[in-house]
Amino acid sequence: MMCPFCREENDAGALACVSCSRDIAIPGSLKAERDDLIRKCDLLRDELMQAKGELERARRDKKRRSA
Ligand SMILES: [Zn+2]
Repeated sequence: MMCPFCREENDAGALACVSCSRDIAIPGSLKAERDDLIRKCDLLRDELMQAKGELERARRDKKRRSA
């Protein structure tokens, strides 16, 4: 895993960074929360893409109707 402070690459599960010695251990609960947030982010991105597609279709329809 990469140290969030100095970006040094450390072994997975390392408790402290080999470069800056800061505490980089991540509690399991936080990791689960992060994975959950990433999933939600992906879902929202999908919904955003869908909404954009619908908006684009609506715009095209409107143009066709007014033309
Ligand atoms: Zn570091």
